[in-house]
Amino acid sequence: MVLDAKNLTHQFLDIVFPRNCVITGDPVEHDSPYKFISKAVAAKLFRVEPPHCRTCGYPYFGAVMASDRACPKCKELNPQYGEGRTVILVEGVGRELVHQFKS
Ligand SMILES: [Zn+2]
Repeated sequence: MVLDAKNLTHQFLDIVFPRNCVITGDPVEHDSPYKFISKAVAAKLFRVEPPHCRTCGYPYFGAVMASDRACPKCKELNPQYGEGRTVILVEGVGRELVHQFKS
């Protein structure tokens, strides 16, 4: 990490006003992968990795798929967009996180 004036200011502010997790309210650890999510909550997020639907990005569970075919929902709904990605599943902690962003 480069210790420039901006980083020093942020480190000072983190000491004086520690960042709290948006889900638990607990202080966010310095080595957390996210600025406003504690390590415990980050570990519960389901980050979507391949294999996933080529259209909506929803992950395939179970057997590894050899192709990147569209999921049943995309085949049924035939969305107007051609390609999308899903970063996290909106369930459990992910759902709470989305609700926090919306409120
Ligand atoms: Zn899909």
